[in-house]
Amino acid sequence: MDLKYKRILLKLSGESLMGDKQYGLDEKRLSEYATQIKEIVSLGIETGIVIGGGNIFRGLSGASRGFDRVKGDQMGMLATVINSLALSSALTAAGQKSRVFTAINMFPIGEYYSKWKAIEAMQKGEIAIISGGTGNPFFTTDTGSALRGIEIEAEVMLKGTRVDGIYTTDPEKDPSAVKFEKISYDEIYTRGLKVMDLTATTLCKENKLPIIVFDMDTVGNLKKVLTGENIGTLVY
Ligand code: UDP
Repeated sequence: MDLKYKRILLKLSGESLMGDKQYGLDEKRLSEYATQIKEIVSLGIETGIVIGGGNIFRGLSGASRGFDRVKGDQMGMLATVINSLALSSALTAAGQKSRVFTAINMFPIGEYYSKWKAIEAMQKGEIAIISGGTGNPFFTTDTGSALRGIEIEAEVMLKGTRVDGIYTTDPEKDPSAVKFEKISYDEIYTRGLKVMDLTATTLCKENKLPIIVFDMDTVGNLKKVLTGENIGTLVY
């Protein structure tokens, strides 16, 4: 089988782990993700994963409710660790080995992250789930995944969302929105598109890490992206 990439960084949003729920974790969604991820690892793709925490806590919305921003961001980072443990557990249940790394030392919940430990895990066919964002407040997990993707020398960052790509306007609100097959980093700035925060986009641009935004919630799509089917939007 023709594979487009040998090593990838997959970003999953925390919100998508809720499935149809309003908060927290949906076991069915976790198990669907685990099956899709196991499938691509069995093709020989070295896989690193970064997960968000929005299904549990976000520092910015916490601040609007009176939480201290830094403490709120720390709560958000811990939420990403919870999600990472949940995905790791679902992967184990699916028969796929994984290792959870944390940006902040909290052994034995996870191993303290280093680029080399993550690469070593991936080379053994284990999934490196890199949690805790960047370890710093005022950042997002999109920036965390851009950073980790560059560090682990991934060839692409796959941003799994519930939308099937990048559109001229929000397709969930505007039926006339048109999808891009490809778009440059610069066009994201000039059109003011909210694909990722600008810190994450700039990090990818400056380090030439392409991004593919695709619908991860349709089972089978992850493999399709990696075998070169033209789904999603490529940012280059
Ligand atoms: N966060 C942080 N630093 C990081 C990454 C995340 O402080 O490097 C916090 C921040 O409060 C953020 C929350 O963790 O709102 C959850 O991450 P994010 O909102 O990116 O999750 P997603 O929207 O992808 O579920």
